Amino acid sequence: MSVEKMRNIGIMAHIDAGKTTTTERILYYTGKSHRIGEVDDGEATMDWMEQEQNRGITIVSAATTCYWNEHQINIIDTPGHVDFTAEVERSLRVLDGAVGIFCAVGGVEPQSETVWHQANTYKVPRIAYINKMDRIGADFFAAIKEIDDKLGAETMPVYLPIGAESDFKGIIDIVNMREVYWPEDDPKAGCIYEELKDENRSMAEEWHEKLMDKLGTISDEIMELYLEGEDVPHKLIHKTIRKGVLEQAFLPVFVGASLRNIGVQPLLDGIIEYLPAPTDLPPVPGISVKNESAVIVERSDKGSPLALVFKIQNDREAGSLCYVRVYSGVIKKGTAVYNMNKRKRERLNRILRMHSNTSEDLSSLSAGDIGVIIGMKEAQTGDTIGSEGHQVLLESMHFPEPVITVAIEPKTMSDMDKLKKTLNTLTKEDPTFTVSENDETGQLVISGMGELHLDVLVTRIVREFKVEAKIGNPQVSYRESVSVASEYTEKFNKVIAGKENTASVTLKVAPMNRGEGNTFTSAVSESNLPREYQDAVRRGVENSFTSGIMYGYPGIDIGVTLIAADYSELTSTAFAFEAASALGYDNACRGASPVLLEPVMNVDVLSPKDYIGEVINNVTVRGGMVNSLESRTSIEHINAQAPLAKMFGYSTVLRSLTQGRGTFSMEFSHFAPKEGGI
Ligand code: GDP
Ligand code: MG
Repeated sequence: MSVEKMRNIGIMAHIDAGKTTTTERILYYTGKSHRIGEVDDGEATMDWMEQEQNRGITIVSAATTCYWNEHQINIIDTPGHVDFTAEVERSLRVLDGAVGIFCAVGGVEPQSETVWHQANTYKVPRIAYINKMDRIGADFFAAIKEIDDKLGAETMPVYLPIGAESDFKGIIDIVNMREVYWPEDDPKAGCIYEELKDENRSMAEEWHEKLMDKLGTISDEIMELYLEGEDVPHKLIHKTIRKGVLEQAFLPVFVGASLRNIGVQPLLDGIIEYLPAPTDLPPVPGISVKNESAVIVERSDKGSPLALVFKIQNDREAGSLCYVRVYSGVIKKGTAVYNMNKRKRERLNRILRMHSNTSEDLSSLSAGDIGVIIGMKEAQTGDTIGSEGHQVLLESMHFPEPVITVAIEPKTMSDMDKLKKTLNTLTKEDPTFTVSENDETGQLVISGMGELHLDVLVTRIVREFKVEAKIGNPQVSYRESVSVASEYTEKFNKVIAGKENTASVTLKVAPMNRGEGNTFTSAVSESNLPREYQDAVRRGVENSFTSGIMYGYPGIDIGVTLIAADYSELTSTAFAFEAASALGYDNACRGASPVLLEPVMNVDVLSPKDYIGEVINNVTVRGGMVNSLESRTSIEHINAQAPLAKMFGYSTVLRSLTQGRGTFSMEFSHFAPKEGGI
């Protein structure tokens, strides 16, 4: 399939908006169209769908491929909630466009706002689909108004509903000015197009005009034709909508009721018609491994192979399934690829394309495409792979810091190795999950983004990997930093095996802005301190970042500069410079008013109006600051920030405060100085 005919899309939706149902219908209709002549009875597909439905899993792969109108659509699984930010980040990173599904009754739910804004940050072109038009309370125009108001989008319907609730019958295509219907009780049948009826004409014309007005703002050609009262060719309309989507000038809106098999094929047409092909997007920024300079990666299969690992899934039979997005060049089965992050060459045993119920062996994967690689043992989510002769790192994914820690041990010591292996597998799958072993006690400690995150992982360890393990009480994972600048000169001199080891370094430490990370720079030239010793200083400082200042928690946002150094041709060694730098770093930090930082969480609570007083009180008692309070029809939405330490067990508390009716989501916001130490 040529790359212009490829679409890499995500489906973004709030829980319950109908993502699973719509995806199922997409796979059903596309499966049928792809397999015409292969499977004569559609029943087989349907049976399979029902089976999957009963088991409650539809899309198990992180990316599923299907075909529509001679185009290839790779659907990338995109979580709808923010409990697992890393999952959202990584899917947004590799998809080229997205469909936002909204419920015609619920409209925009607070949790989906976060995901939508993340998609804005990544500049993901989108179309919207208003689902569940058949439900009681369905209101298409209220839903699009909410999208405008709450998400700051500029909606532009390309279809309108005919009727609503139990009267929802079909949709009006306001580009082609016709009506679209689906025969009831026959999901296999395609849509039926009918002429516009008189009773729908004025509404259709009104919205057609609005559509033309909007398209006229980005196409002079349309503006002129329209002003002259001439018909605008449909092809030009589609082309202009596509242009607007790519520029994110507006948000075309589709409508339907997936459960009733209404609206799905037009949505598929829209995905092909309006969402970008990989080649419609600008080149990808990368960094040369050799000299850290910025490079531009052209999205072409001519260049050196370059791909991003965006998900690792452990499969009991096949081992590590490595989902990759290829940005340039071609990756071939049976060859070696180079992992830029791990600096390791590995062999590609197999390349697979995942379909809804099968997988297909491929001999290669080209720029623009998404697939699964089998054979890479070391790869981790976020790694760049490509050719050893052309070492470029794609911008690595940004993952939040693990903020909660818990000790874990096997129920029986004989399971220790199995537990360690399992934890190792899980850290490869999930970059926001880390494991460390205490050097002295041998105790295993796991860290993640929240109680829920660790709960899910521990459940997987027990159920999926069959390792009986028990965990201790969750602890906050603090950080340390400095609050003023300070300098320190460390002179090191140690005799080892009769040989002197000397070094002298002057280090300056200074606070960086929150979130900037740790940095090391050398202001000493290589003529004043040879490269070998400069490297040793860097190692000494960088290793010290993880070991804390006063309490042993990792240091963050500390800027270190080597401002002077002294060495002797006779007695200096790399070892001495590394040791001097580690000690110098400690001493400089202690003189720089060290601070202990605690994770502050962003908390969104939805509570029925009756309990709102108690809920707010409780958040305040926990040291939380309420940022906003917003009324919905029957519920209130509270947004607050609170220290993680005070939020342990909050789900139980909220349940009892609201008689089980309140819900909340919580994610890491930032680190802030902790009052009163620990
Ligand atoms: P997800 O959480 O976004 O994946 O949503 P699901 O697809 O699982 O749907 C949630 C619920 O809404 C299920 O009970 C579906 O049967 C129902 N549902 C999905 N689409 C529609 C629709 O078009 N109309 C109605 N009435 N219900 C729907
Ligand atoms: Mg679902």
